[in-house]
Amino acid sequence: MLELTLDEIADEINQCKKCDLHKTRNNPVAGDGCKNADVLFIGEAPGRNEDLQGKPFVGRAGKILDKLLENIDLDRKQVFIGNILKCRPPNNRNPLRSEIESCSHFLDKQIDLIKPRIIVTLGSFSTEYIFEKFDISIDKISRVHGKKFKTVDGKIIIPVYHPAVATYNPNKIFDLEKDFETIKESLKDLD
Ligand code: URA
Repeated sequence: MLELTLDEIADEINQCKKCDLHKTRNNPVAGDGCKNADVLFIGEAPGRNEDLQGKPFVGRAGKILDKLLENIDLDRKQVFIGNILKCRPPNNRNPLRSEIESCSHFLDKQIDLIKPRIIVTLGSFSTEYIFEKFDISIDKISRVHGKKFKTVDGKIIIPVYHPAVATYNPNKIFDLEKDFETIKESLKDLD
């Protein structure tokens, strides 16, 4: 079977009506960035600004993510930024299990195409999803953040807190900054 391109996946996301979120969304958010990025960042779901603009992490959490990337000399054009859910849950509620089940095949296809060497999971929802997908035993984000995990096919998984936590718990920015240094070191170690 012919593999879809990232743009074709984005077209499918635009047409998708598999769950009720298509009824309330303004724009789906397929993800954005370098199509063969070494590093893939995975968030939870679009928020209000992302839903309005159709782009990932363009609101307050996005500003924090941009700063964290800048700290380690990366910018958005060098990485790919996506989410588990491609449509905004009303009032930014947590994703439902059924929504993740309907939507995650898009993320799976994006991972297959981008072939990232490092996957950074932003927050507990994407950490749980990726750990389960790659058969890594799950633990709380407070215990695993900043640690490196290896998948059987050699990818490095680095869970970090969701950047939005730093908007209501300013001390968490120090954990995030430290954990992003681990991303930088891991990038240096890639052969
Ligand atoms: N939070 C997320 O998890 N994803 C976004 O795209 C924006 C905010």
